[in-house]
Amino acid sequence: MAPPTKKRKLSIASGSFKNKTTKSSLADFINNVQKKREVTADSILDFNFHKKRVRIFSQVQLVPDYCEGIVYWMSRDCRVQDNWAFLFAQKLALKNQVPLHVCYCLVEKYLDASLRQFHYLIKGLQKVAAECKKLNILFHLLEGSGDNVLPQWIIDHKIGAVVCDFNPLRIPTSWVENAKNKFSQDVPFIQVDAHNIVPCWVAADKQVHTIYSMRCKINSKLEEYLTDFPPVIKHPYTSNFVPEPIDWDRAIETREADKTVGPIEWANPGYDEAMKTLKSFLEKRLKIYADKRNDPTEDALSNLSPWFHFGQISAQRVALCVQEYKLQYTESVNAFLEVAIVRRELTDNFCFYCENYDNLKGADNWAQKTLDKHRNDKRSYIYTLDQLSKAQTHDDLWNSAQLQLVNEGKMHGSIRMYWGKKILEWTLSPDDALKYAIYLNDHYSIDGRDPNGYAGCMRSICGIHDTNFVERAVFGQVRYMNYNGCKKKFNIDTFVERYGGKKHKYISAK
Ligand SMILES: Cc1cc2nc3c(=O)[nH]c(=O)nc-3n(C[C@H](O)[C@H](O)[C@H](O)COP(=O)(O)OP(=O)(O)OC[C@H]3O[C@@H](n4cnc5c(N)ncnc54)[C@H](O)[C@@H]3O)c2cc1C
Repeated sequence: MAPPTKKRKLSIASGSFKNKTTKSSLADFINNVQKKREVTADSILDFNFHKKRVRIFSQVQLVPDYCEGIVYWMSRDCRVQDNWAFLFAQKLALKNQVPLHVCYCLVEKYLDASLRQFHYLIKGLQKVAAECKKLNILFHLLEGSGDNVLPQWIIDHKIGAVVCDFNPLRIPTSWVENAKNKFSQDVPFIQVDAHNIVPCWVAADKQVHTIYSMRCKINSKLEEYLTDFPPVIKHPYTSNFVPEPIDWDRAIETREADKTVGPIEWANPGYDEAMKTLKSFLEKRLKIYADKRNDPTEDALSNLSPWFHFGQISAQRVALCVQEYKLQYTESVNAFLEVAIVRRELTDNFCFYCENYDNLKGADNWAQKTLDKHRNDKRSYIYTLDQLSKAQTHDDLWNSAQLQLVNEGKMHGSIRMYWGKKILEWTLSPDDALKYAIYLNDHYSIDGRDPNGYAGCMRSICGIHDTNFVERAVFGQVRYMNYNGCKKKFNIDTFVERYGGKKHKYISAK
């Protein structure tokens, strides 16, 4: 197998991380957030937990008499603090005066994830394990999916309740569904939405089709849910067994993943690194977010999506911190909260309620019809997945965006829509376009394999959460974008120069 590619820096943002964020001031920032938790409550036992964040799957609600511990089955939200699922598990453990365990069940392969994403996940978990240790909470890395390995583990260790977090995607949902049938029937099994501010099942009880409608639903509930967190505290009950030792590097090496797509350099995994990026966003980039976020040559975005995706920072914590700047940078704060709350939570709604969230059947009727009508339209260019992967199209802007994705592991947000739409324009069918876009996004993007990614690809290629436009070839009534449109928004030459996309001579794929 080829050796991992060299780690890549994010060209736009890398400089800014070095400048201002001195060690002590980052420590102050992190400590201040911790103080806010401590002011909120001494521990989760003194906090009025919002019950609507919770779904109880089991018939039983009380832990059995033999209970010697509670387990948090960590999956999507890989952090200790600001994690409602973790807090709920600690609440149960404190109430029942038993030890608290965290289990992460690591699968060998996950969708089209490459070494890049497994590296980020596992290095992040290593930091979670260290933080747990300080809090007298036991962290276990189990090999295999939760539905396969946890049922016996729970019996072996006399676990009295299981708390899991929430992920609307198909595979993690199937783990939870299978586990429901496999866990001992006398063990309460509870799910907590630790990813969304307004729990997905509370925000709406069905699929929401427009951003406007989601905004209304979220805003009407935000005050109730956008609250501070109490701390996860040092756990007072000690387990009588210790976790198996973990070989973290081996855990990375042994994944079945493309090792030619190596780790990224501009974003390091873990909560502290996320806080560092949040701090630099608040201090430097937030002020220009409203005006410059759509220009991919500017450094105006939060860049937080890797940590959001792996649950290494809570969107709720970020929203609380950003909100504090509302008087200073009103427009920027509003623009950021719109994407980080409304748009982000809309994509969880989409994947939760639409089983076809990653194929054409998941598009609205008008879009399915119009794309079908134009299925056989003549395409001016047709590229294979390989040509697209290697950024070998005739379009230097698209190629530059693809190179940014491959080399840095994150494409700028404002260019992702153009990138997706050109894949529709240059492939044999909308089905191929969607398949290729999702593959490229899942394989190379550090924040890929996420509801945001599926909804993003579905939006650009089949118009979900969008309206219909004037009919044209290939796209039908799905919104179109072109090179000249981008030219009006930003300096394409600067972007191309930065990422090095060339204008390749067109070679027909046929
Ligand atoms: C084709 C396509 C593919 C995409 N793939 C992904 C993906 O794999 N993972 C991913 O997290 N996002 C994806 N997005 C959405 C968006 O482009 C990214 O969330 C954003 O660029 C992440 O960078 P940031 O954190 O610096 O953004 P910021 O602008 O700082 O936004 C902060 C956060 O808000 C959320 N957000 C921003 N824009 C959107 C949006 N349009 N929809 C939903 N949530 C949003 C994200 O959680 C983001 O991290 C995709 C969009 C498109 C059109």
